[in-house]
Formats: sequence, C-alpha cells, structure tokens
Amino acid sequence: MKYFIVLAVVFLVAWRWRSARSSTLEHQQQQKAKAQAGPADMVACRHCGLHLPESESLRGQHGVYCSPAHRQAAEG
Ligand SMILES: [Zn+2]
Repeated sequence: MKYFIVLAVVFLVAWRWRSARSSTLEHQQQQKAKAQAGPADMVACRHCGLHLPESESLRGQHGVYCSPAHRQAAEG
C-alpha cells in the first residue's frame, strides 16, 4: 500500500509536469505566430522614431517617416 501511494504521487507529479510543459509550448507557439503576424511590418519614423505600420508610413529618399512634415524636416 505504501508503494502504491508513492507511485501515485510520482505519477501525479509527472502528469502535472507534462501538462505544464505542453501548455508552455503552446504559449510559445502562439507568441511566435503573433510575432510573425504583427510587428513584422512596423517601421520607425526616421525623424522622431515613432513606430507605425508600414502601410501608414511615408517613404522618403533616406527612410520612412510618420508624416509629410517629418519627411520634409529630415530631407529638406
Ligand atoms: Zn515622425
């Protein structure tokens, strides 16, 4: 009976460790997917450093900018 309790405890610990580990893995995979979908197309304004989606940025000769005013300020 004593061994049965020890075995049960070992089994429980192993099971909990496994489920905790798999949920951590799932979490990491979700974070990876998020990172690939989200911030990949963020750019920083060359003048003020503001981060904005690439689709909303303005392209200049030397980089991207958040507004026409900053493009003009940086490139004249
Ligand atoms: Zn700016």
